[in-house]
Amino acid sequence: MKLKTYIPLLFIFLYSCSKKEDTPSTSIKSYKTENVIVIVMDGARYSETWGLPNQPLIPNIANNIAPKGIINTNFRNNGITFTNPGHLAICSGIYYNLNNSGGATPPFPTMFQYFNETYPTKSSWIIASKDKLEVLANTSNTSYNNLFMPQTDCGINGLGTGYRDDSTTLDVALNIFQNQHPNLTLINFREPDFTAHSGDSLGYIQQIKNVDSLINIVANFIENDSIYNGTTSVFITNDHGMHDNQNGGFNNHGDNCEGCRHILFAAYGPDFKENLITNTAYEQTDIATTIAELLCFDLKNTTGKVMQDLFKE
Ligand SMILES: [Zn+2]
Ligand SMILES: [Zn+2]
Repeated sequence: MKLKTYIPLLFIFLYSCSKKEDTPSTSIKSYKTENVIVIVMDGARYSETWGLPNQPLIPNIANNIAPKGIINTNFRNNGITFTNPGHLAICSGIYYNLNNSGGATPPFPTMFQYFNETYPTKSSWIIASKDKLEVLANTSNTSYNNLFMPQTDCGINGLGTGYRDDSTTLDVALNIFQNQHPNLTLINFREPDFTAHSGDSLGYIQQIKNVDSLINIVANFIENDSIYNGTTSVFITNDHGMHDNQNGGFNNHGDNCEGCRHILFAAYGPDFKENLITNTAYEQTDIATTIAELLCFDLKNTTGKVMQDLFKE
């Protein structure tokens, strides 16, 4: 008899999952995740990341990060394979052909605005090497325009100021993590996409390795941080790949070819299985939907699925 009243109280006070206008949930789920960090390595083909035998270009993801969680070998951008539409799908759960030069905000909010609306005392950030990703902080939707926006640190000095090095983006991210411990963060590393566009194949390869090492620094920070350790789920993916060799090769992207669509997916966190490689067909829009499940907020109009097979039984 005691148990019956005890469980709902635990649910409400420990996990704060009751939302405004919520109807009573039929299944009570509680997660240890309090923070989510999404890291995007811009424009790497799967054939150079997990798809390359023994993963020599992503040794940190393969050896240090994969054992902590899940690798999905069948993960895709099934929308527009450009930077802004890819990041928008990851952050909103909706595929939409958003202007790729930063000239427009999305016509609907992303997970950041819904998260901030639900949790006004929590914080969220978009930290990006590419200034044009700052548009994901806002929407032209009149119900959400200029409301519930995440904080941003994008490009040299915000929208319209140009790209910056990934090492600078890493420093900015670590500084924000150290001082603010945001609860929901997107990090964009502009490489290897940026170097690939110059046609430098060796540089493209080297930049995959570099971003792999930057991602590992973030993972090590989380593990050694008393607030983030054990409370933080991490998603690592790409916004798009690059053309496969039959469709133009590594130095461009933007169509439906397998090189552009097939991308890396790795995730780990306190609610996820460990040391598992799966091939369930999932896609970019499923990331935002899964984050909304983990952090317990409504992601309106998403077409994504919750990636149930990530979760511990
Ligand atoms: Zn590109
Ligand atoms: Zn392509």
